[in-house]
Amino acid sequence: MDVVNPANCKAIAKVPISTRDEINAAVEAAKEAFPGWRRTPPLARARCLLRLRELMEERFEELSRIQTMEHGKTIDESRGETRRGIENVEVAAGIPSLMMGYNLEDIAAGIDEYLIRQPLGVFGIIGPYNFPFMVPLWFAPYAVATGNCIVLKPSSEDPISQVKIVELAEEAGIPPGVWNLVNGGRTVVSGMLDHPGIKGVCFVGSTAVGRDVVYKRCGETGKSVISQTGAKNFLLVMPDAKFERTIAACMTSFYGNTGQRCLSGANLIIVGEGLKEHESNAFYRKVADGFVAAASKIRVGYGLDESIQMGPLRDESKKKSVIGFIEKGIEEGATLKLDGRDVKLVGDWPHKCFLNPSAFEDVTPDMTIGKEEIFGPVASIMRAGSLDEAIQMIHSNPYGNAASIFTSNGKWAREFQYRTQCGNIGINIGIAAPMAFFPFSGMKDSFFGTLHGQGQEAVRFFTESKVVIQRWF
Ligand code: NAD
Repeated sequence: MDVVNPANCKAIAKVPISTRDEINAAVEAAKEAFPGWRRTPPLARARCLLRLRELMEERFEELSRIQTMEHGKTIDESRGETRRGIENVEVAAGIPSLMMGYNLEDIAAGIDEYLIRQPLGVFGIIGPYNFPFMVPLWFAPYAVATGNCIVLKPSSEDPISQVKIVELAEEAGIPPGVWNLVNGGRTVVSGMLDHPGIKGVCFVGSTAVGRDVVYKRCGETGKSVISQTGAKNFLLVMPDAKFERTIAACMTSFYGNTGQRCLSGANLIIVGEGLKEHESNAFYRKVADGFVAAASKIRVGYGLDESIQMGPLRDESKKKSVIGFIEKGIEEGATLKLDGRDVKLVGDWPHKCFLNPSAFEDVTPDMTIGKEEIFGPVASIMRAGSLDEAIQMIHSNPYGNAASIFTSNGKWAREFQYRTQCGNIGINIGIAAPMAFFPFSGMKDSFFGTLHGQGQEAVRFFTESKVVIQRWF
């Protein structure tokens, strides 16, 4: 399969699509490597990860450029992604401490009890296209650090970053069979879900696949599962928000990564809490106009140009889908204030996958564009009379990935954090992305499972607790 750079439409690589036999071979290799890797002391496993980290640092720029070329994001966004990926390797290298159990002497006279954590065997990891480098690293380093082996399937759309990582893992001394890679789409996923040799699966992607295919099939086949899925994120602007900083944060949230982030802002609610009607109208206009003016200045083009602020969509079909949403928004009565279909680029690139930022006003939460995940550079601007009403608007949406509030009022911020049913909350932060040592949360239709990726929760996911009670006569 060709991997095509969406900015210049040139094929940059070819990847093979793995057959059923190759999936079986990968699982067999992992199963075979498991006993030896499990017996490797955690400190020795950690040293392999530290070497991997060093190699990633040495190739930092190369790895970042690959992401821009295979995905389309700007080079600075790619550097951010590389950094976030490496941080997960660093955190997982703390495994000798992270994997410790606990004990208690004399739970009865002369009897001690302790808990140990043990790896399970082989895990499957299935990635989405929007963060080709980072997302699989929310899981892979923790799986490997805890003594498991993995079969990883990157998105078929941009798999090169993961091919590079597996090469570096080998160079770092991670033994053959521990870190395996297969390529392909849905057939490969179903091969992994059905494979009896795979004990658990980590999936990141759309809700349709994550819930209806992955979570369901893992239940049927008895696999443990982390399934992180789709999103529709709301950002609230309160009357006392710092105006310039809020608008700047909104630009990165709504249009960064071309809107293809599960933490991207999608709906902007301008909240007139405590304001009289005419004040509320003036406040609304100021924020909405400021937002649209800033969005219209975003420089769109090929992400390897350092001055570019927004790259193309990953491919033509994604652009088509976003245009479909824009048309639906117009049809349902929203006002299109900024029309990104009118493509203007910095540089002479084919328009095939590009859109400029779009922004709608007069959107309500029940309209298609207010409700469904667009996954592109389209903002829906809404109004609420109070914080309470805004929180209810968030709760009327089935997703619960992220939500942010912009305010100078601690009471409003606390109320928002306390009540909002979303897994990642931002307070004066536009992209509420948890660091590697915190779980990547998600609620409602944005997450299926119990434990999340990253940090301590990932360590727990990749290990089974065993409790030992001992008495010596
Ligand atoms: P996707 O669901 O189309 O694909 C995800 C993975 O599943 C890919 O590896 C793909 O090859 C495979 N796949 C696709 N269709 C399949 C099918 N019918 N059966 C089995 N496997 C299938 O998602 P995507 O378009 O690659 O990624 C975008 C989605 O991921 C968005 O919905 C976004 O919100 C979500 N996402 C969520 C998080 C999170 O942490 N919650 C993070 C990043 C992306």
